Amino acid sequence: MNFMPSFTKTALKNLFSQPATRMYPQVPREYPERTRGHIEIDMSTCILCGICSRKCPADAIKVDRTGRTWSIERFGCIQCNSCVESCPKKSLSMHQTYTEPAGVKRVDTFQKPEEPPKPVEPPKAPAEQKGTESNA
Ligand code: SF4
Ligand code: SF4
Repeated sequence: MNFMPSFTKTALKNLFSQPATRMYPQVPREYPERTRGHIEIDMSTCILCGICSRKCPADAIKVDRTGRTWSIERFGCIQCNSCVESCPKKSLSMHQTYTEPAGVKRVDTFQKPEEPPKPVEPPKAPAEQKGTESNA
């Protein structure tokens, strides 16, 4: 059998076509729109309810209501998006970029700031109280 004609054809085709690979990192990777990379949280809206933790099939999320923290084990997460879909406050979102490789397990912990004390209502004026009693 003579393979020369097909080889020549392939060589010529490759010579004049675009390269199949990218010049990474000079040419950054463009992620498809629905890429599941990593989870982000908005602690300003999170109410530390723990629903995301209970829905996580990989047990990657920990919510500490006493310490007011939300943690995620990055390499335990399987990017299933279950926590994002179950969060009642829409505090979680899936981002396209992946967690960077590392030699040790990585846990990211986010702290929810203490809420300011609620303002105390001033006591009602005596006249106002009297009026309320006479109406009763
Ligand atoms: S489900 Fe949402 S609001 Fe509840 S703890 Fe998780 S991120 Fe916070
Ligand atoms: S994406 Fe899935 S595996 Fe990752 S933290 Fe959310 S529920 Fe858990």
